[in-house]
Amino acid sequence: MALLELDRVSVSFAGLNALTDVSFTLEAGQIRAIIGPNGAGKSTLFNAITGYIPAHAGTVRFAGRDVRGMLPHRISALGMRRTFQNGGAFASMTVLENVLSGLSQQTASSAIGLLFGLPKARAAERQALARAHALLDLMGIAALADRKTADLSSGQQRIVEITRALAAKADLLLLDEPAVGLSASERDHLMRVLRGLAADGIAILLVEHTIDLVMAVSDCIAVLNYGQLIADGKPEAIRSHPAVLEAYLGK
Ligand code: ADP
Ligand code: MG
Repeated sequence: MALLELDRVSVSFAGLNALTDVSFTLEAGQIRAIIGPNGAGKSTLFNAITGYIPAHAGTVRFAGRDVRGMLPHRISALGMRRTFQNGGAFASMTVLENVLSGLSQQTASSAIGLLFGLPKARAAERQALARAHALLDLMGIAALADRKTADLSSGQQRIVEITRALAAKADLLLLDEPAVGLSASERDHLMRVLRGLAADGIAILLVEHTIDLVMAVSDCIAVLNYGQLIADGKPEAIRSHPAVLEAYLGK
């Protein structure tokens, strides 16, 4: 069974069809990119999958459950994490605090214990710190742990946001334009990170305009145009798909 399964998902805004009958599946450990021109419906698709806006028709199944109509935090608790197109890291926090705040979604119940100094809660906090540091290592930003997030480059802030999304248990990660503002070396780093996460079994849904990154990192690519999937396949097939060349690459 696929980890994520969309079946004829449709979304409309006041009569405008932002998504029409979108269907695809995503397996654990797979990277799927969604590409398409501005306004094609990519962010809307993310919002419909993660529960931020309701899909008006169709089904969204995640980890064997029908999640359409569920609230975002409940879907997220099932192991679906996302980043936002315009960034979601807390600027006033340090990098480490950002990652811990992602973790605390999972460990909020231990806050009371901490207040009373219960040993179990202190052990949980030590574990959280250890996990946060391990994630910072994995993402290559350990040296930035105590820096204020607002003081970092926009590329570094993107990596912080992804690290934060990963802090709590994630089986599926949705990244909306993660390479915006990244330097070439940061982009290479991001690409290695995404491959590493997929190798660990995490499924990734990626909206991205940087076509080289998309081609290099994706197992499959879906192309959206005016809210419809006009192509879906492996990178080699998508690169030369006539509808894609016309709609997306403008040829
Ligand atoms: P993309 O991310 O591919 O650039 P979007 O998903 O942001 O595209 O937008 C798809 C279409 O839906 C656009 O025509 C956009 O104007 C419209 N749209 C997106 N969100 C809303 C909303 N909350 N209310 C009304 N229209 C929206
Ligand atoms: Mg968008």
